[in-house]
Amino acid sequence: MAKRIVLADPRGFCAGVDRAILTVQTILKAAGSLREDGLPPVYVRRQIVHNRHVVEDLAAQGAVFVQELAEVPDAAAKAGIPIVFSAHGVSPTVKAEAAARGMHVVDATCPLVSKVHREVLRFVKEGYEIVYIGHKGHDEAVGVVGENPEHVHLIEHAGDVDSLDFAPDTKLVLLSQTTLSIDETAGTIAALKARFPWIKEPPSSDICYATSNRQAAVKLVAERSDCVVIVGSANSSNSVRLMEVAQDALGERGVAHRVDDAGEMDPSWFDGVEAVGVSSGASVPDELVSGVIASLRDRGFTDVTSVETIKENMHFVLPAELRRQPSPAR
Ligand code: SF4
Repeated sequence: MAKRIVLADPRGFCAGVDRAILTVQTILKAAGSLREDGLPPVYVRRQIVHNRHVVEDLAAQGAVFVQELAEVPDAAAKAGIPIVFSAHGVSPTVKAEAAARGMHVVDATCPLVSKVHREVLRFVKEGYEIVYIGHKGHDEAVGVVGENPEHVHLIEHAGDVDSLDFAPDTKLVLLSQTTLSIDETAGTIAALKARFPWIKEPPSSDICYATSNRQAAVKLVAERSDCVVIVGSANSSNSVRLMEVAQDALGERGVAHRVDDAGEMDPSWFDGVEAVGVSSGASVPDELVSGVIASLRDRGFTDVTSVETIKENMHFVLPAELRRQPSPAR
């Protein structure tokens, strides 16, 4: 019997990533040829999405990526060169800095991340202290906590709950990063509720549809595989969570690996393996998954089946200022 590939569906691009990439592509297309003043057509603050290949591809088309706004020259701000904020969102400090410099901002923050920012503002206004479950230093968490560092208390795991101390009359609510592990977060929420039984949850989970759907699919895939390969970059929170979820489902039976592309796969991973599960993070173009499948086929994994858990039809429109621009060819 042929060795098998078990492919997760859904996998790869989510609506927020698609919108963020299309935002930069649309600006690049509208800019057309090179400017006479030598300035680039667009700056992007941080990685537009956490995927090395996506960033390298847009940089090759002329986008200039910066870590901080200070790296954007005044001449570019004065010339109205757009600066795009990434899908992960920014704190008000960054917005204020851009405004002070008169920059032309195009905000590609995923609407589902913006929703968490709005929740912070609303709950703080209503007098709540917010316990935010997220990853310290991740761009999304930095942006959300930055909305009100005094009232937003970041914890990463259930083990951090002991470090919190609130009087019983404190109004408390919990919010979370959009790309966490559903199972691990459930454990953290249980620990929070045990310590602060009056803590309130948001009206709907902050963990987004794409994260939930990809984790549910990879769980089933891992249950049918002896080894799992997740395509996604090391700084992609949802890709790393997919690897962890797959590893949990595999248990002792096998190992889940994360790669940026097929070139990072080690042939020894597949010794004695009959079925390899494959999925990809929400920031990963499907051609990178195709590369992994082609490489596995060369190793004798020729029978490809899909495990489809749900059909996704989520779509976000472009930022308002770009909606009348012609779409780039895709
Ligand atoms: S993973 Fe979720 S929150 Fe993040 S960009 Fe995609 S849809 Fe938006």
